[in-house]
Amino acid sequence: MGSYSEFHRRSIEQREAFWREEASRVHWHKPFSQVLDYSRPPFARWYVGGETNLCYNAIDRHLAERAAQKALIWISTEVGEEKSYTFAELHAEVQRVAAMMQALGVGRGDRVIIYMPMIAEACFAILACARIGAVHSVVFGGFAASSLAARIDDARPRLMITADGGSRMGKSVLYKALVDESIRLAKSPPEKVLIFRRGLDPKLQMVAGRDVDWAELAPKHAGARVPCVWLESNQPSYILYTSGTTGQPKGVQRDVGGYAVALASSMERIYCGRPGETMFTTSDIGWVVGHSYIVYGPLIAGMTTIMYEGVPIRPDAGVWWKIVQDHKVSVMFSAPTAIRVLKKQDPAYLQKYDLGSLRYLFLAGEPLDEPTHVWISEALHKPVIDHYWQTETGWPILSAVPGVERTKLKFGSPSFPVYGYDLRLLRESDAADAEDNEKAVVAIVPPLPPGVMTTVWGDDERFVKTYFTTFAKKMVYATFDWGIRDAEGYYFILGRTDDVINVAGHRLGTREIEEAVNMHPNIAECAVVGVADPLKGQMPLAFAVAKNATGLEAPENRKRLEKEVMETVDRQLGAIARPRAVHLVTLLPKTRSGKTLRRAIQALAEGRDPGDLTTIEDPGALEQLKNALAAA
Ligand code: AMP
Repeated sequence: MGSYSEFHRRSIEQREAFWREEASRVHWHKPFSQVLDYSRPPFARWYVGGETNLCYNAIDRHLAERAAQKALIWISTEVGEEKSYTFAELHAEVQRVAAMMQALGVGRGDRVIIYMPMIAEACFAILACARIGAVHSVVFGGFAASSLAARIDDARPRLMITADGGSRMGKSVLYKALVDESIRLAKSPPEKVLIFRRGLDPKLQMVAGRDVDWAELAPKHAGARVPCVWLESNQPSYILYTSGTTGQPKGVQRDVGGYAVALASSMERIYCGRPGETMFTTSDIGWVVGHSYIVYGPLIAGMTTIMYEGVPIRPDAGVWWKIVQDHKVSVMFSAPTAIRVLKKQDPAYLQKYDLGSLRYLFLAGEPLDEPTHVWISEALHKPVIDHYWQTETGWPILSAVPGVERTKLKFGSPSFPVYGYDLRLLRESDAADAEDNEKAVVAIVPPLPPGVMTTVWGDDERFVKTYFTTFAKKMVYATFDWGIRDAEGYYFILGRTDDVINVAGHRLGTREIEEAVNMHPNIAECAVVGVADPLKGQMPLAFAVAKNATGLEAPENRKRLEKEVMETVDRQLGAIARPRAVHLVTLLPKTRSGKTLRRAIQALAEGRDPGDLTTIEDPGALEQLKNALAAA
């Protein structure tokens, strides 16, 4: 064990030597000629000229030593099934799916949208894309048809892979029907859709000439041998869409080699996962955590990974701890909202199972409040590590790094900058470095480390403009988070600097939700803000102005319109974006130049002082807001 601060310093000051050493953790078919090409800032190209493959590193490389070890354990408490696959079996399944995809015309560089529930076949599809050099774009199953259509038009996939449905809290969620709708809305739909049928949609309709039944195609490719396609390190591996302040989601693009190295390194240094052990990440494959630490990370590390379809409290609140016991999980990764859900249940469930194998619980995705951090640490008697990252970075930005040094944990803090990140706290006004205990913008001085996004899919200019132009004087990557560092060097994240909100760890842009609310034919304009929620961290709240207010004095008419607006949001974006309430007003608080005073609205909604409102055009708007909130 060395000193972490020394380790971190070396990763910045001797960047190339450091990352050259870390690169030996992955298999290179052809060695790289240059560790880093930073000739075109802020674009960083890692391991130039090197050739590798993510699927090879995740599966093939382990076959000599671990062919009979479990690679993937799929557990569904929704449909009451459990299945496991050894590395050899996963190798066969992935090759079969790769052959199926090739038969459907997919080749190197083609995009494949995967819109699937948490089933093993989703994992096969992801790895099969990586194997043949196709670029996957996994879309979270909670998104609605028009969100999916926007992603189709941006990625222009050759193939979409879906299932008839998923299941949540015992209820079927139909995926294929939603895919049909999204393809109807899309301008550049794929020619083929591959469908895995689980028997969850008895009314499923196949579209002749377009839809292909997985069960019919799979037997034709049993035993297929599909070699890995070697890719130059900087080729795209995947696109993952994420919300920002505009309505148009951004396609976060990642490379191959840098990502493989960052994951291999973090698995040992941050997560302390050892080959042959088991990792249980409770996220969804549709999120970045699922990509990095359900699928690629643990497999690259030679670990068994658990993929779980279900919720943490069904059949009871002990289900996750039973999994830890039964599968001897050594590393677990979850999100604060899930822990807050468990906190409301009987604590006896935590004593019921033998958690002796568990070394660490990692939490990320949203702020971890101190009481929840204290509660779960005491209940588990294990270190609970809060760590901070973004879809863009693909792996943590701030974390304890116990594989290098077991530093003291502080409740409410994700500890220190992760090695490779030249992290700064910069004053908003002049980009100067902030003092200790001074709130400032969390920024990263480029080049960004391996594993972090390389560009916005199809739009280099947007990448630069979105992330590197916050400060006029310095070209730094802005995280759009506020942070603070204490005198001991521990960081604390204090929320977003932009109009992005975080609902149970899911990132949503308030603009996106406003656009969805405005799709209702009787809504003229609206303002959506995030308000604090004890369980989910934040929830959207909408204030909307009706085009035609006739009849809206009657409470039942208002209720009906509010309900219709919520349904519109469900249809446009999905239920995760549904506002907690829609308040109908006739006026929104705006400045004289017409800007909606979102921060004042948010303050009022959270019962705080809205601050200086001298720029407001019509104070009557605030009164309406207060009355609407009081009546709720
Ligand atoms: P996403 O890319 O959807 O994972 O969202 C990333 C955002 O989630 C960050 O910019 C933060 O605002 C928030 N976030 C993620 N992890 C943490 C954490 N450990 N503490 C506080 N906020 C976090």
